[in-house]
Amino acid sequence: MSEENSRSLESVRFAKPRPYLHLIPDELLIEVGKYLLPTTKPPLPSLQPHFENYRHPFGRRGNYRDYISFRESCHKVSCLLKPIDKDFEIEIKSKEGLEKWVNAPKEKLDNVIRLRLKFTLDPSDDIPTLSSRYWTEFISLLLKLPNLVELYLTATPFCYHRNPAHIFPLELPDSVENPLPSIISFANEVKCRACAEHLTRLSGCMTNLRYMKCTSQDSVSDHDVGEDFEPYDFMLSNHTPKLETLYLKYWDLDTFDDGPLWELHEGAPDLKRLIYSSHAIEYPYTLRQRAMLEAVRQDNQWQFEVGTEKGEHLSLNGTLTTFAQEWSQFDKMEEFDPGLVLNIAQYYTSTIHGLAPKRGSEPTNPYTLQPVPSEVLDQIHIVHPEEYERVFKEAMVEATKIMKANWTSLKKVYWWQDRHKRPTRDYLRWTAVIVEDGPSTEGHTDGNLVDVMIEGSQKMYHDLIWSDDGTIPPDVETALDDIHLG
Ligand SMILES: [Zn+2]
Repeated sequence: MSEENSRSLESVRFAKPRPYLHLIPDELLIEVGKYLLPTTKPPLPSLQPHFENYRHPFGRRGNYRDYISFRESCHKVSCLLKPIDKDFEIEIKSKEGLEKWVNAPKEKLDNVIRLRLKFTLDPSDDIPTLSSRYWTEFISLLLKLPNLVELYLTATPFCYHRNPAHIFPLELPDSVENPLPSIISFANEVKCRACAEHLTRLSGCMTNLRYMKCTSQDSVSDHDVGEDFEPYDFMLSNHTPKLETLYLKYWDLDTFDDGPLWELHEGAPDLKRLIYSSHAIEYPYTLRQRAMLEAVRQDNQWQFEVGTEKGEHLSLNGTLTTFAQEWSQFDKMEEFDPGLVLNIAQYYTSTIHGLAPKRGSEPTNPYTLQPVPSEVLDQIHIVHPEEYERVFKEAMVEATKIMKANWTSLKKVYWWQDRHKRPTRDYLRWTAVIVEDGPSTEGHTDGNLVDVMIEGSQKMYHDLIWSDDGTIPPDVETALDDIHLG
């Protein structure tokens, strides 16, 4: 059933043996076969956050071609080496591929544990008819895969939107009549924004879903949405009570307001890992971290304020303590990355900021939440990059301790660091690991026996962190504006 070109074993079993190969000892042939087996397998689940744009997990699947062609080389080798059924991870890349799998025998379908859908219709196709037909076929295929664990929707033939464009004309299956209990991991990474929003609702059938990658649903129509719904409000109307990991992409939305918090908690109260990425909706879909954490050191104490990058609107203001307390309603959360860019406001280093501000001038640091008070400006330290990093790490440790003191389930927090002035968006992403019952360090305000280890940073440069999932809207905004104004 594979789409790869390999001859079936039956056809070569009677082929002439390769000269000399049959003279090689069995043990050596078996060793060669082992050597040809792929050494790496993608983990299950294999989902990555939107900004971790590494090679797609499906591109990292084991390559069995060398093993198979060696096995097919002669009858003796084919008897010595075990057959490989590599159809447990399937990628459907064409209409023919979909038809083939829809009609596959049960024993083949029973083997499938991972599936990626990756094809679209051609513009010349009868799109209204075919999108509907393939949707029905695809849902019937899902229902015939009892052991499917992970599903990727990367590109689909279902993308057809009548006016108004944000309405998805295809009916979602009923979750009671059509449960998909085996799926624990689901990524919706399609480009069409309306599909990115609607197809995520397929998760409603995945009664045991634990890992999900998706975009927020900020422009779709929803019958359950009340009158006060504004287009572009943050929405994630999922019912996924067993969800543990959420990689969530959003645009210029207020993700930190009470509404989003409530929605997230309502749909997935037991989240253990939440990783946000906020992207520009225009090409090249750059990661745009807009939430800030400003750190100021006074009298040897760090003070932290959450806020928003200049010109952006997020419901973020107040202390880090309050922020952590609000979010601590997720009382199972262990790993949290809200995309906060940490700024140590009194410290400047030329590799990041260029020149330091002068007294009486506007601060040149573009990330400062408010004009720096003059008494703080007096304490500006222009430091070498190494010293800047040392102080930055000190601030991360303190910020992490405040988070932990107010949100006891946390085990890992991520902090972002700007690498360059705007408009470039290059970051470092730091991991702060919380070690409970670690050795007590003196001088900490919370007094908890908590130690924090700062792990090496990930370089998050544009080439890696762009994401075009859900970015090409089929006039969704226009349609919504019409409704909203009308
Ligand atoms: Zn679409």
